[in-house]
Amino acid sequence: MMKKLFVRIRFTLLMLLMICGLGQSAFSWGVTGHRVIAAIAQNHLSPKALLELHKLIGKENLAMWANWPDFIKSDTTHSWDNTFKWHYVDLPGNLEKDEFVKELKALPGENLYTQIPAMMAQLKDKSLTKEKRVIALRFLIHLVGDLHQPLHVGRPEDQGGNKITEYWFDKKTNLHSIWDSELINFQQYSYTEYTQVLDIAGPEKVAAIQKTSLEDWFYESHQLADKVYDLSPAESRLSYKYNYIFQDELDAQLLKGGLRLAKLLNEALS
Ligand SMILES: [Zn+2]
Repeated sequence: MMKKLFVRIRFTLLMLLMICGLGQSAFSWGVTGHRVIAAIAQNHLSPKALLELHKLIGKENLAMWANWPDFIKSDTTHSWDNTFKWHYVDLPGNLEKDEFVKELKALPGENLYTQIPAMMAQLKDKSLTKEKRVIALRFLIHLVGDLHQPLHVGRPEDQGGNKITEYWFDKKTNLHSIWDSELINFQQYSYTEYTQVLDIAGPEKVAAIQKTSLEDWFYESHQLADKVYDLSPAESRLSYKYNYIFQDELDAQLLKGGLRLAKLLNEALS
């Protein structure tokens, strides 16, 4: 009798764990992607920015806070619910640049596009409390990462690929999760190894990646998202070939995210 009860409790716990696990599939870039972007950014901070950063978070690494804005989605007091919309924008596919920028600027309310400059302004503002500036810093680290995950600049009808069922090898998942986590995990690097592998661009390449505008960065993600949608029909079994097709672009997005985050931090912490 007792044994049966234990088996039943264990089963219930297992089901609960599985349900919680599924809930996390909507997380952005997975933990590794966000940490790579944060760690690359940290490598490119100016001495002035490093000094300011030290005043805010001491010796802590940026990577440590890169996923915090996703973790607070589980806060049962719901005090962060207003930030859930900050992680993405949804726009129709295959837009020309001018049209895209027009629609991006016309999106109502707070979103990924409005909150990157908003967090920069708060981080920069020394009249605010340290606590408020630290929170702005954590969001800035995370949101610049999200901006470079193409499906965070995806389409409204499928919620950035969340509603498109796919198979990653044998595992049933969705297109958004493949870009958040599966492709990155497939590389089998720790975040520090991945940072070392990617962060090798010379000064000219770094400058070229950093000099373009926030709207340019969004449009690059939009264009990559168009390609991702084209090459990922629903219910596909995606595996080695998919990785081969997109690996260069995945790596490029992580590097760009890191270098551009450094640019914004150097600006805000100057
Ligand atoms: Zn996010």
